[in-house]
Amino acid sequence: STGKPDINREKSAELYAKAKTFFPGGVNSPVRAFKSVYGTPLFIKRGDGCHLWDADDNQFVDFCCSWGPLILGHNNAKVREKVIEVMQNGMSFGAPTALENELAELIIKNNKFIEKIRFVSSGTEAVMSAIRLARGYTKRDKILKFEGCYHGHTDSLLVKAGSGLVTFGETSSAGVPKSFADETIVVALNDREAVQKAFEEFKDQIAAIIIEPVPANNGLILQEKEYLQYLREICTQNGTLLIFDEVISGFRIGFEGAAGYYQIKPDILTYGKIIGGGLPVGAYGASAEIMSNVSPDGGVYQAGTLSGNPVAMAAGIAQLSELLRMGFYRDLNNKTEEFTEAIQRFATARNYKFKVFTIGSIFWFAFTDKEAIRNADDIDASSMEKFKKLHRELLNRGVYLGPSGYEVGFISSAHTKIDLEKAKRAIFDSLEVVFRE
Ligand code: PMP
Repeated sequence: STGKPDINREKSAELYAKAKTFFPGGVNSPVRAFKSVYGTPLFIKRGDGCHLWDADDNQFVDFCCSWGPLILGHNNAKVREKVIEVMQNGMSFGAPTALENELAELIIKNNKFIEKIRFVSSGTEAVMSAIRLARGYTKRDKILKFEGCYHGHTDSLLVKAGSGLVTFGETSSAGVPKSFADETIVVALNDREAVQKAFEEFKDQIAAIIIEPVPANNGLILQEKEYLQYLREICTQNGTLLIFDEVISGFRIGFEGAAGYYQIKPDILTYGKIIGGGLPVGAYGASAEIMSNVSPDGGVYQAGTLSGNPVAMAAGIAQLSELLRMGFYRDLNNKTEEFTEAIQRFATARNYKFKVFTIGSIFWFAFTDKEAIRNADDIDASSMEKFKKLHRELLNRGVYLGPSGYEVGFISSAHTKIDLEKAKRAIFDSLEVVFRE
């Protein structure tokens, strides 16, 4: 097959021109601008099940799923009906409601890793609060993060590594004071020696290690269980808290997220995305003892006008209730495995330099011949040109992937066998075009 002609983007282009007069880059979150793929974004009009429709009425099988929250697909009837029911009573009170209890109980009863939880409105807020809690609890300032792990746009976490084993933060964003970044130690993933060195150099100063236990923001850089266990142990030995940022992996790899998958108990967990059923919800949780440090019980201040918003809680309750049904994750994960294995078989049979990495219902297309990718340096930046081409071919064949080769794809319970079969054929044809040159 050959490259397909581009889809009609007339209305999206018009809307984008207008949006650029309102928003920096025409968007309210940068990756949406399609900068590293086509160059101009699609404007979305509607979603239903696993499908999306853009402003020009092009239809796509969606593997972005709003970047992860929509594990039941778009416009799920149970979530929608619960939201509408709760909205009849008003949308925000700034006072406690029974709905907060209901969502908290649903989570805590089915997740042995947390005893108390606090709801916030985004993943960024959850992580920001977890970091403050770790610092307040340990009375230490420094945090250790990993190159290639994204934890939202909190100042002290917008830091990347330079070269060397242990590097002091070099900020990834203008507007982050050097002095903030200096409190952040960045090391490569899968490198025990670097972590060891950091603990030697900054003895009794590291409040927390924060990691995405399933690193999924810079490709899918799966870690070995032994490495995560090593982090658990070194934290315990040093009086440092281990924070699992489960904004993506929480309720995705299983109801108990990566902590449950690997059976490793972190000290603080952060959630976002799935927990709000597509509405803005984040959360952080820990033992009752650690959480007792949060205001008004303790001295770590954290608040929110819309925290625990009833409409958002309703969406979360409806969505998480579905996830607790017998066999939900087994079916979703099996479906994903079948899909990704078929794509890998196709690529391998043709000797394409292409790997599908996957865990649970997350997958990542990598233009590599490496058997495993364990840290950010293992990713070949020049391969992103191939992703750009693949992305365009896929859009032209009715398949929507997140618009960056560093982003993972998600499969929802709404992706039927027939949809996945169609998508697979589009992926095969697109790969043939990409690898022809
Ligand atoms: N942590 C992780 C692991 C994430 O993937 C994200 C978002 N992609 C965040 C934090 C930030 O969440 P939000 O975009 O909801 O602020």
